[in-house]
Amino acid sequence: MRRKLVAGNWKMNGSLAANTALLAGLKAGLKVDLQQAACDVAVCVPTPYLAQCQAELTGSSIAWGAQDVSVHEAGAFTGEVAASMLLDFGSAYVIVGHSERRAYHGESSELVAQKTLRALAAGLTPIVCVGETLAEREAGQTELVVGRQIDAVLQVLDASQLQRIVLAYEPVWAIGTGKTATPAMAQEVHATLRARLASKDAAVAAQVKILYGGSMKPENASELLAMPDIDGGLIGGAALKAADFLAIIGAA
Ligand code: 13P
Repeated sequence: MRRKLVAGNWKMNGSLAANTALLAGLKAGLKVDLQQAACDVAVCVPTPYLAQCQAELTGSSIAWGAQDVSVHEAGAFTGEVAASMLLDFGSAYVIVGHSERRAYHGESSELVAQKTLRALAAGLTPIVCVGETLAEREAGQTELVVGRQIDAVLQVLDASQLQRIVLAYEPVWAIGTGKTATPAMAQEVHATLRARLASKDAAVAAQVKILYGGSMKPENASELLAMPDIDGGLIGGAALKAADFLAIIGAA
């Protein structure tokens, strides 16, 4: 049985004051709810706020992490942040290959695969994102596109490394648009992804969490999270409001 994970992706939002209010709201809400929900909870925050998360979330049931990591270990890479630095601030997770990084920063699937390795080597859990654009879906290429994205990662990971990743299916057309994949549409892709993982190692594939992301909110979370291969959510906009994020956690 895979334990569900609900992870917030704050993207480039927040301030010290706003974060304190949001985290206080989550901590207050989770005291009662986590027992019932019995799922893992995390927030992936802008890197400067990792220290704040460490100060305010240590000892709570909420883990934290970053939204990107350098592919390099250390050295002359101005502006980059190393996996070891994320770990220094208590991070458990790091998102890699988010579609916004792929689209706006030209990250290739090969780079995403190397970042995944770098995160694993540092002891972080990478949340590896894949997903198709609307044009790709309409051209009937969803399986081809996400297949290529996941295959790049499968090529460089052995089974024991694969066991330590979290996968996230985030259809690009559903991100921040209010359009959500129907539970059936999402389940179909999740099952395809799990089959790809199984081609590497069936036992490991059965254990890897595959999250859904893309306009997940309290109104649609329960039906998405009820699907057999949807093991949680990667939440953007709705993770910025404590009540909404708590409601999604409650649905998991
Ligand atoms: P939204 O929930 O705002 O659509 O964002 C999803 C996402 O990109 C999470 O990584």
